[in-house]
Parts: sequence; structure tokens; C-alpha cells
Amino acid sequence: VPELPEVETVVRGLVPRLSGHRIASVVVHRPDIVDIPVRQFRSRLKDRTVNGVHRRAKYIVIDLDDDSILTVHLGMTGKLLFFEAGQAPQTTHPAVRFRLTAGPMLVYDDVRRFGRIWWGRRSAWAERSARIGPEPLARTFTWHTLFAGLQASRAPTRSWLLDQRRIAGVGNIYANEALFLAGVHPSRPACAVDEPEARALHAGLKRTLSNAIRGGGTTLNDYRDATGAPGRYASRLRVYGRDGDACAVCATAIERTVFAGRSAFFCPACQT
Ligand SMILES: [Zn+2]
Repeated sequence: VPELPEVETVVRGLVPRLSGHRIASVVVHRPDIVDIPVRQFRSRLKDRTVNGVHRRAKYIVIDLDDDSILTVHLGMTGKLLFFEAGQAPQTTHPAVRFRLTAGPMLVYDDVRRFGRIWWGRRSAWAERSARIGPEPLARTFTWHTLFAGLQASRAPTRSWLLDQRRIAGVGNIYANEALFLAGVHPSRPACAVDEPEARALHAGLKRTLSNAIRGGGTTLNDYRDATGAPGRYASRLRVYGRDGDACAVCATAIERTVFAGRSAFFCPACQT
């Protein structure tokens, strides 16, 4: 499932390729992906120029020249792929195609179709964005911010990290990785994380997220960047998906448990 580093990688691939292009036409193959009526969606987007692309939480945010916004959430298996003019689009489950003037094509492809494409006014997007928590890689996200948030909650720390209203863009992979780096057990109540641990968790989040961006994200199955390339970070995961492997720090076997419907991976010796 694409998280902050994967979405950031897609965005970094789109910025130089998509910005400045005008949308010539839109074909919607899967209307359930788009959250306004297809006819309206097509007419809103036709002839719009892309002013810029950025990321907010797990959303790809595309700024259009009429003060409207297109956001793409990749769901479980979504891919937003850019094909140069003359390049044959390699897609398996195309849901929406955006043909750009001068020939390139942007295709949203999604096997399981949990993804979503939203169109709206800038002001409506600003309201949605305001309900999402702070960006963990922003300089303004300090360990104090994290510690204060954790103190106010009795939820398991892993659940706290996955809650998009508390912190943006963190999913199960990087929550587990950051908790390992901080020595905090995933099911420990958030309010029982002490000050030194909150500092370590803050550092662990920044470290694992920025290293994963540098590695182009984690590909377990479906994730691809905007050019169709897989991420290179999976081999560097320390606990996620590694149950039975030796902990890199103490050699104890990594364990897996399930709570709140999701697998949690941890070292029983390093994480208390
Ligand atoms: Zn260990």
C-alpha cells in the first residue's frame, strides 16, 4: 500500500514531466474511481493546464490553471503512470486516461480499485487538507508536537501513527519501522511513551521516511513510480514482513502479531 515515501516518489517523477502540460481529453474507463459524474469530470478537465504537482499526506495533488485541484489517492494498488509521446502505454487495468496536448499520456491504473480521483475547488481541497494531521517531514513537526499528541491518547502507538488526523502519510510499513528504531512495542498505549522514547520515535519516523524516499519507496507487489519503476527500499526494511528473521540489533527472531486488523512486526527483545 503506497505510503508517504511512495507517493512522494510518484510526485517527484511527475513534477518535471507533467507541469505545464495541457489536458486535451479524458477517458474514464472506471467511473467508480472518479467522485463526480464522468461527464462533469471530463468537461472540468478538458483544456486545463497543469500548474504544478505536490504531495499532501498520501495524496498526489495536481494544481490546475483555473484554481481547481485534482487529487489522486492510490488506494491499495493504484499507479499513476506518465508515458511520453510515442511511448506505448504499458498498463494492465487502466481506469482513467488523460491525453495531453503534444502527445504524452497520464494513466491511472488500478487492479483492485480502492483508489480515488477527486476534483474540486482549491478552497474545498484546503478544507479537506486542514483535517489531516501535520506532515512528519516538515521542519515544524517537532518531537514536542509528537510527544504532546501521544500523551493525549490511550490508543496503541501503532494505531496512533496510522491515524491520518494525527499525523499525515504514515501507514503500516513505516509505522512498524519507526517503532522498531525507537524501541517501542507497537501495542504500547501512546500515552505510555516517555519523553526520550518520543524523541527516538520522532527521529525514527524522519529517518525511515526520508531513507525510503531516497530508495524510491517500497515495492512489495504493485507499487510503481510515475515511470513504471519499482521502489528499492524493501530490502532495507528491518521488521516489516520479516517475522522469523533475526533482529539486526540483537539477533532475536522478529515476531508478528495482529491487532486492529493489521499485522504488527517487532523485536520482542528490543521493543518493550
Ligand atoms: Zn532486537
